Amino acid sequence: MYVAAIDVGGTKIVGAAVDRKGEIKTPIRVENTGLSGEFIVETCVDIFHRLSRQHEIKALAVGTGGRLDTEAGIVRRAVDLYTGYVGLNIKEILETNCHLPVVIDNDCCMALRGELWKGGLKDYQRVAGLILGTGVGGGVAVRKNGQYQIQQAEFGHFILHPSGRKCLCGQRGCAEQYLSGTSLWNRYNQLTGRAKIRSGYEFFNQVKAKDKTAQEILHEFVKDLAICLISIQNLYDVEAVVIGGGLADTRQFWWRETECQLVQKSSHVLPKLEILPARNGNQAALLGAARLGFEKLEAML
Ligand SMILES: [Zn+2]
Repeated sequence: MYVAAIDVGGTKIVGAAVDRKGEIKTPIRVENTGLSGEFIVETCVDIFHRLSRQHEIKALAVGTGGRLDTEAGIVRRAVDLYTGYVGLNIKEILETNCHLPVVIDNDCCMALRGELWKGGLKDYQRVAGLILGTGVGGGVAVRKNGQYQIQQAEFGHFILHPSGRKCLCGQRGCAEQYLSGTSLWNRYNQLTGRAKIRSGYEFFNQVKAKDKTAQEILHEFVKDLAICLISIQNLYDVEAVVIGGGLADTRQFWWRETECQLVQKSSHVLPKLEILPARNGNQAALLGAARLGFEKLEAML
């Protein structure tokens, strides 16, 4: 028995059949070229049909960006997302086309759910997930009766610098403008005055090459990250924050300094905040989606 798990990302839509143990089978990747609600749901239906030819699929679970009404299955709000996406009832369309139970949730919540399931974490009472990728997002998990309830948290639009850089959401100084991979390479090009690099990967190549500007930007990133983490702890009373997303793969360049900054900047009243790297990389969201799908199936028994 499998759940068809799908992760809708800005550049690609990834799907796979996942079993109850978290074994991922038949991964499928489709470039998200349509960038519209219609293209996304059509691709989800297509991925489902391809997976169900090979596996006994019992539910479909989709993780996607934006603020979602998970009960109704609708994207309620989104910054700079796809055309015709806000207001679209993804759940209803997929249920009609695939004839099985469908669950949807925010992609960062799915990633946190995946880490809680397969990340080898302790049984925290309260834990947050901070996803640092092309953008920044997150979620907060609270344990109740042995089960985690996960709530979406817009860590990307938490204001770090009130008079800071303009964000796509209309605010100024949002965390996403300082902590995303995009913000790092944009800042590098801005400070060097040349449109030289186009990705977080290239930015970290500059760090590796001991480029002064890149190192300074990374130092600022660490200070901002520490502030963000401390605020998450203060606001949500979490014991730990799991840090995932593409930037987690570059942590050898910034993890230790972040821990030092946390010690320096945290209130002595607060217990020590644990920070943990996500273990499942870009599979976390698929695993989390599958887990939610199985929970739905169990609730229906
Ligand atoms: Zn913002």
